[in-house]
Amino acid sequence: MAKDYYEFFCPVKIVAGLKALEHVPYELSSHGSSNPLIITDKGVRSVGLVDHVTKAMDAAQVSVAGIYEDVPPDSSTSVVTQCARYYREQGADSIVAIGGGSVIDTAKAVNILVSEGGDDLKAYSGAGNLKRPLKPFFVIPTTAGTGSETTLVSVIKDDDTGTKMPFVSHFLLPDVAVLDPRMTLSLPPKITAATAMDALTHAVEAFTCLAKNPVSDSYATAAIKKISENLVDVLNEPSNVEGRLELAQAATMAGIAFSNSMVGLVHALGHNVGAVAHVPHGVCMSILMPYVLEFNLAERADTIGDLLLHLAGPDVYASIPSTQRAEKAIERIREMKEQVYSICQLPRTLSETGAVQRSDLPKIAQMSLDDASMLLNPIDATYEQALEILQQAF
Ligand code: NAD
Repeated sequence: MAKDYYEFFCPVKIVAGLKALEHVPYELSSHGSSNPLIITDKGVRSVGLVDHVTKAMDAAQVSVAGIYEDVPPDSSTSVVTQCARYYREQGADSIVAIGGGSVIDTAKAVNILVSEGGDDLKAYSGAGNLKRPLKPFFVIPTTAGTGSETTLVSVIKDDDTGTKMPFVSHFLLPDVAVLDPRMTLSLPPKITAATAMDALTHAVEAFTCLAKNPVSDSYATAAIKKISENLVDVLNEPSNVEGRLELAQAATMAGIAFSNSMVGLVHALGHNVGAVAHVPHGVCMSILMPYVLEFNLAERADTIGDLLLHLAGPDVYASIPSTQRAEKAIERIREMKEQVYSICQLPRTLSETGAVQRSDLPKIAQMSLDDASMLLNPIDATYEQALEILQQAF
């Protein structure tokens, strides 16, 4: 499935740092945006994060067309249509998304409708169905996980069928992503942990999948190092601003990495655990990652061994014989899971989620075989192998 060439593309301007938010008005004006619509969700708004941004806009006398705050966790076609209608009513000229992956994916889909016109979102689902640039689009992530601020993907539920529709196009990439640690300080420990493990999985799978390439590898390994060095510190000290910024940058870098390679079997299984049992995406990733890496050892032991350098640092890496590094890298991920569990009880197994039943596993295994993420896993898992991994992770 891997091609004999690779491409790398990331045109998103990244503005990152302790005062990055103050730069938002400049970015808006340099894209000709004078009346942006803010898209967010109630959870993000209730902890005052939208106020940080509007304060920075007020200081630069930038007006806002309106604030749409009704994005649910599992955004759907009707939400996107409703938000696009509000955009038009308010005469907005651009979009500022303030939130986690749910808000960012919704804002990407809204941008399709307000740029292309009409309400028929489904007409643009799939890959490559957008042919021209969309309205100016700015993203301010409030979780450090999905990397959606630098990916060319959005996933939206079809209200008619209940299925999730992917939208894939370079035109969905934001113009600017603003990473400011003030936006993640209020994240509860469990969401901090789950989203960071989501980012770690993006980086690990980008580095181990069949479409890995030297440029995506550089982003993936830098992201793995930042998460390994900062996650536990941030969980122990949630107000650690420097650590929060490191995690935000890691999530963005992991997004760049997997958007330019792919993911693999952790995502194939995890998407379907989420679909069947409604377990948050990052929790699924965290649970399944070591089991899938063990499965992939047969084809990718050297690559998995290379992860150890970025997960544990040069001293540990140098002290372990090369034949044992892959097992040690997996052990290191298990240790991280244990540390995270002891701080915030992020589930380590599918049974610990309390949402997955053993009887769900055959259905999840079957659905995973059709997941696009399976295509570039180093081993094309059979139904029996997928089920075996799920049983181990139970
Ligand atoms: P989320 O956006 O669903 O947010 C989870 C919860 O955290 C929400 O209740 C939200 O209100 C709250 N929250 C967010 N930031 C907060 C903050 N700073 N303080 C307090 N509360 C806060 O979670 P997520 O994990 O960021 O996103 C998950 C979604 O992202 C899924 O829909 C998934 O499909 C999607 N996703 C997209 C991509 C992509 O490349 N497009 C990649 C991975 C995942």
